Amino acid sequence: MAVDSDSLKDRIVRFRETIPDTVRIVAVTKQVSAEVMRIAYAAGVRDFGENRIQDAEVKQEQLKDLTDVTWHLIGHLQANKAKKALEQFEWIHSVDSLKLAQRLNQLAVDRPHKPQICLQVKLLPDPNKFGWTEADLLADLPQLSDCKHLDIRGLMTIAPLGLESTEIFNLFVQTRELAVKIQQLNIEGLYLDQLSMGMSEDYLLAIRSGATMIRPGRILYGDLQR
Ligand SMILES: *Cc1c(COP(=O)(O)O)cnc(C)c1O
Repeated sequence: MAVDSDSLKDRIVRFRETIPDTVRIVAVTKQVSAEVMRIAYAAGVRDFGENRIQDAEVKQEQLKDLTDVTWHLIGHLQANKAKKALEQFEWIHSVDSLKLAQRLNQLAVDRPHKPQICLQVKLLPDPNKFGWTEADLLADLPQLSDCKHLDIRGLMTIAPLGLESTEIFNLFVQTRELAVKIQQLNIEGLYLDQLSMGMSEDYLLAIRSGATMIRPGRILYGDLQR
């Protein structure tokens, strides 16, 4: 499909103008081509979010001239792909178990920079999503604190489908409150000042409840899909 690059660029520029400067926009690009990502780049996007290692690898190769881009992994990561994930992504938002965190920690020993990590939580039951419950996360904090080769920066969450706005808002507020609670425990290595939450449908609610990183996808591209 031919891409109308000017109107797409305008659309993304206008979207960015509505977002406070303090909120980092991780443009989710899993559904678009490298060609579209170049237009997003021209519109000022510097953070790209991908959910699959292999898709990202192809696009990273195609976009390797864009050297000031930060790549974020936002999708579930299998332990056997952890090494690749560390090679390809500076941020991993979707660390969803102690086992995975410990695996990444082992592999990160030799890396020049600590990987930036968000811990994925689900504070409402959701069989379709990975992540820690509050109780499980609190129980795992001492061992997460031992993962010295990771820079554990914050919490990430995805709202379950089918919630009312107020329920989504409450969920995001609870996620922020959990991050604050963990900060107040003053555990070495666990100062969680980042909140990765909010997608196309709920990013405004996320910003209102304290998100520092939002992950919009479809809203940036309109009808344009791969
Ligand atoms: C796909 C995806 C997004 C973006 O979703 P949109 O509805 O396209 O905005 C954000 N976060 C995660 C984890 C995703 O998988």
